[in-house]
Amino acid sequence: MTRLVLLGGGHAHALVLLKLRKFIAKHLEVTLVTPSPLHTYSGMVPGIVAGHYASAVAQIDLARLAQGASAELIQGRAVQIDPAAKRMVLANGATLAYDVLSLNLGSLPEYGGVAGALEQAIAAKPFEGFLALWRDLLENGPRAPRIAVVGAGAGGVELAMAMQYALASRGSGGLVVIYADKNVFTLKVAPRIAAALQRLGVELRPAMPVSALEPGPTVVSPAGSERFDAVFWATGAAPLPMLRESGLMTDARGYVRVNANLQSVSHPDVFAAGDTASPAGATLPKSGVHAVRQGAVLADNLQRVVRGTALLDYVAQKASLSLISCGEKYAIASRGDWSAEGAWAWWWKDWLDQRWIRQFR
Ligand SMILES: Cc1cc2nc3c(=O)[nH]c(=O)nc-3n(C[C@H](O)[C@H](O)[C@H](O)COP(=O)(O)OP(=O)(O)OC[C@H]3O[C@@H](n4cnc5c(N)ncnc54)[C@H](O)[C@@H]3O)c2cc1C
Repeated sequence: MTRLVLLGGGHAHALVLLKLRKFIAKHLEVTLVTPSPLHTYSGMVPGIVAGHYASAVAQIDLARLAQGASAELIQGRAVQIDPAAKRMVLANGATLAYDVLSLNLGSLPEYGGVAGALEQAIAAKPFEGFLALWRDLLENGPRAPRIAVVGAGAGGVELAMAMQYALASRGSGGLVVIYADKNVFTLKVAPRIAAALQRLGVELRPAMPVSALEPGPTVVSPAGSERFDAVFWATGAAPLPMLRESGLMTDARGYVRVNANLQSVSHPDVFAAGDTASPAGATLPKSGVHAVRQGAVLADNLQRVVRGTALLDYVAQKASLSLISCGEKYAIASRGDWSAEGAWAWWWKDWLDQRWIRQFR
């Protein structure tokens, strides 16, 4: 039997376990390595923060999925991959061999060398730790907390608006401030986001790169030093260092370089999907949308590589739909040059998110 190791329990591997459950039982010996038996669906995280969903609604039970697919689940994390020897080392020192390896490890927060960020800030990812600390702040923190969110990409603004909405909903006051080094939104959507932030009372500090975080926690920026009750880190994504260290071919940043079949260009028995993967010839944003779509192709290709049949290509849409939730049940929709907003956009996003998560129940 072919030994397939699924490293990381992200969106794509959840889909692999769901779609391949019958095939796995007959043809594969599968091991899923994941630090947590639960996977939190990124699209619904701002909704959890805002109080629209309970955490459990957005969680995929990987242990149950693995069991349903006759796969072994190892709760742990890999610290080293050796694709030449076809094995990996786990944090507990154990080694794990494979015939085919699939990587869906996500990405790390991008700290960009900002002193004190790792120690003083609460990273938005992993979501499980972030949500536990957010709940702790709400329950045990000051009645009207002053919160800083560093990073004004889609994730940062969604989180900031969700936090401000949650504070307003409990009627105790509090302020959320976003530090943005630059504006990452297309000109078409930027005014809509700026208006939504203003409506909610989120304070946007544009062109304000954070240079350090000091105990307090205190944010150091061109505006000076300012103390907060909590600082959340929601900047861009960075690759796991072990990917480049492994000898797998990576792109300039260190994400695993894959071909259109999601297969490593240097080691054909290694596949990668989601944030971990960098498809040759495409610059895809690190977003759950691609992780989800690639998951379907990955599932097919893992089956095909075992059967020895032709692999399928992942073809990214030229412009994918973006739905940015605005704290309340209101969202901004955009695709390419088109954009619109309203409560209907939130319900559309809710419908899409619930449909995705429901298939795992
Ligand atoms: C605040 C925020 C909000 C976001 N909102 C959205 C959104 O609304 N829509 C959207 O499309 N995208 C959103 N994103 C981006 C999205 O989170 C990522 O692009 C997406 O999670 C990537 O999915 P993935 O399947 O590649 O990896 P993940 O979902 O990150 O899963 C990777 C898994 O691998 C595990 N892992 C990590 N290291 C190891 C290891 N060494 N060994 C074993 N397992 C390991 C992790 O624990 C994790 O479970 C948001 C990001 C942030 C930070």
